[in-house]
Amino acid sequence: MGEFELIRHFFYPVADATDQPGLILGPGDDCAVQRVPKNTDLVFSIDTLVEGVHFPENYEPTHLGWRCLAVAASDLAAAGADPVCFTLALTLPEPNEHWLEEFSTGLKQAATRFGLALAGGDTTRGPLSVTVQVHGTVPEGQEIRRAGAKPGDLICVSGTLGEAGAALAHLQTGQPDADQLQVLQRYHHPEPRLALGVALRSRVSAAVDVSDGLLADLQHILTASCVRGVVDATRLPISKNLRALRSDAVSLALNAGDDYELCVTISPDEYDALPDTVSAQLTVIGSVHTGEGVSVSGQDDAGATTGSGYDHFRS
Ligand code: ADP
Ligand code: MG
Repeated sequence: MGEFELIRHFFYPVADATDQPGLILGPGDDCAVQRVPKNTDLVFSIDTLVEGVHFPENYEPTHLGWRCLAVAASDLAAAGADPVCFTLALTLPEPNEHWLEEFSTGLKQAATRFGLALAGGDTTRGPLSVTVQVHGTVPEGQEIRRAGAKPGDLICVSGTLGEAGAALAHLQTGQPDADQLQVLQRYHHPEPRLALGVALRSRVSAAVDVSDGLLADLQHILTASCVRGVVDATRLPISKNLRALRSDAVSLALNAGDDYELCVTISPDEYDALPDTVSAQLTVIGSVHTGEGVSVSGQDDAGATTGSGYDHFRS
């Protein structure tokens, strides 16, 4: 199968799977065309996943197809953007049709789930890597930024933390048990909080998605906002499953990445005014103060809180 036949066969069906009125022209031309309605801003973000760095070698292609779109879409969630479309730059060592079938299946599932239409891409030969650029929109000026947290705000996080980090230890396990399967699912199938991000737009003062670890990502908000944060380790949302599986569950919840939950800051008044359906998705884990940096209260093992996350260029 040649390059263009391959693109038509495996990726046009992905493009056709999501109905998005904002995408005027999809793959097949020199450019894709997105119509941006009046009084809205275009919001976009790009993420690259490299084999051996962001996912293990011989990683299941269906999972990779889902993950590559999920991690990119998570940035739209953090900005409070309505998802519209994405482009895909795929670099493959060889045109393995079985691999492409599975990859495009996972990608299609994610695209329809997140309401993101494939707009186009680029397909090249080389070491395996996947780059996805996602596009969304917000009503003019309403994107949620990292800068904006104020002293007195609450710090909240969605869902539960630490499970995806726990999965790393089990990626090579042949026959995972039920507890291990649940954390593996969190790693393979992250669910970006797109609807929650939109619901929090114009209510929260700042937001970030938890890709590198809670403390590391919260630190981005605090630095951008020139404030200090205190996290109460006893209030962290940790699943029963993770507590059963790992004695270091609190440390994982604070420091491990790949959860793709949202961490937001919000004034107490705005928090009280949240619809129940929205506040039910959040746990208050701390507070914002004047100063700088982040500290953790309520845990004995201070050494577990590095807050450093993952840095590709730190030696
Ligand atoms: P050009 O040479 O003009 O950059 P390409 O040959 O790279 O065009 O791509 C031809 C068409 O196929 C373009 O419309 C491009 O968006 C689309 N395309 C290429 N790779 C992919 C892919 N992986 N998924 C979806 N569309 C793709
Ligand atoms: Mg090209």
